[in-house]
Amino acid sequence: MHVPPTVHPDRSGLDEGLLEAVAAGAARLTPQQGLEIHERMPLETLGFWADRRCRTLHGDSIRTYVIDRNINYTNVCTAKCTFCAFRRDGDEADAYVLDRETLLGKIEELVAIGGTQILMQGGMHPDLPLPWYLELLEAIGERFPQVHVHAFSPPEFIEFVNFFDPPGDTLEQKIRSVMEPLRKAGLDSVPGGGGEIFAPAVRRKIGLGKCTAEAWLTVMRVAHELGMNTSATMMFGHIEGIADRVHHMEMVRQWQDRDLADFARDGGGSCKAFISWPFQRENTPLGRVPDWGFGEGDDPDAPFPGDVVATLDGTGVKESHPLFGRRVRMAGSSAYLRTQALSRLYLDNVWSIGSSWVTMGPHVGQVGLRYGANDMGSVMMEENVVSSAGTTFCLNEPTLCRLIRDAGFLPAQRNNEYDVIRVHDGPESPDLRVEDWSTLRAQRLHQQSEGETPATSGAAETTVPLTVSDRD
Ligand code: SF4
Repeated sequence: MHVPPTVHPDRSGLDEGLLEAVAAGAARLTPQQGLEIHERMPLETLGFWADRRCRTLHGDSIRTYVIDRNINYTNVCTAKCTFCAFRRDGDEADAYVLDRETLLGKIEELVAIGGTQILMQGGMHPDLPLPWYLELLEAIGERFPQVHVHAFSPPEFIEFVNFFDPPGDTLEQKIRSVMEPLRKAGLDSVPGGGGEIFAPAVRRKIGLGKCTAEAWLTVMRVAHELGMNTSATMMFGHIEGIADRVHHMEMVRQWQDRDLADFARDGGGSCKAFISWPFQRENTPLGRVPDWGFGEGDDPDAPFPGDVVATLDGTGVKESHPLFGRRVRMAGSSAYLRTQALSRLYLDNVWSIGSSWVTMGPHVGQVGLRYGANDMGSVMMEENVVSSAGTTFCLNEPTLCRLIRDAGFLPAQRNNEYDVIRVHDGPESPDLRVEDWSTLRAQRLHQQSEGETPATSGAAETTVPLTVSDRD
């Protein structure tokens, strides 16, 4: 029986005794304490406590990564998220749907380098029928039974419900009607893409045509009921307030509690990982919104509009500030580390925190291992969505292992279940075999792909034979 840790709402979030108990897993932060920590705790202190909590869960020695491949089977999408540079309408010249042989060929390349899973997501394409997905999953299972299929984020499932009109009286039943056959056809787990920020005021502004938070969480609940694991994500550093970030974590935690209580005893799945990353602005409509303090009439000393609107219970309304949604507050390295560290302390019922270094750069990602993250994400062979929006770094496996080792840990390859497959503690470790590091420096993916169509996965593939990403 899942029993959440005790809360102590009378105590300050900065109380050392409380933080000791949180680090040990014996106490839980309230939303107010989470907000207080984010706003008032020195960054280094926050890192210290997040690291303590991480070590309680994951020990002192090993930090992990996974080898997988991100396959974006289509860039055609019914939604128009303002932060997205990847989507296309179906009639645009560079709109694509990968044919099955191309897709299977990509998996073959993954298997050849020791990869264990694919992360497969769209675009939400209105014209692909359910049999297209079922036959694809079956074909993958037949050719590559050893490959874990981590696919179709909650917004895709909600669009599947809209496109296919499956039987059911409630959204939950309709999702189950779609998810069960996909599961039988070979779907292994559901990635947490499309989380963004759950608070409705923010979500309505940035995720045009994308599902609500409740629908997102309902998809994951059904996945857990059917025995599949999932992950959760948060994209921050745009129009949202800090309280929105805490509210987002609170929603993940609440639903995880409920699903663990309802399904864990019967072999149900759970949310295994939380990954957060800052918004990347290049080539996106939202990226053209002025930074706070640089718009006409801005008073940079006044509170950021997102903070005026945000509430810890997610009920903030856009009318609370006339500039809400019309100014952004981008997150730099310290804001990133602060939010990630808080997520480690706050999400006491989520096993893994991923360091999202793809957008921040390898060395910030490396430091993230001291700010509550136990996992460096994925070594994988292409990345299209984030690279369309600008800064995306890529690394090969030796460099990734070296970053983990230089942070003071043993690098270890894991699978999708977060089981360690191999610990790199000997001279044959990928990083310890390298003699000339000059050929293995981290590079920016979008610079490598310069001049090529960023949304076309084949283009990224020809220039980036082995890259790392954290879109989980
Ligand atoms: S972020 Fe995803 S759902 Fe939103 S427009 Fe882009 S591809 Fe579509």
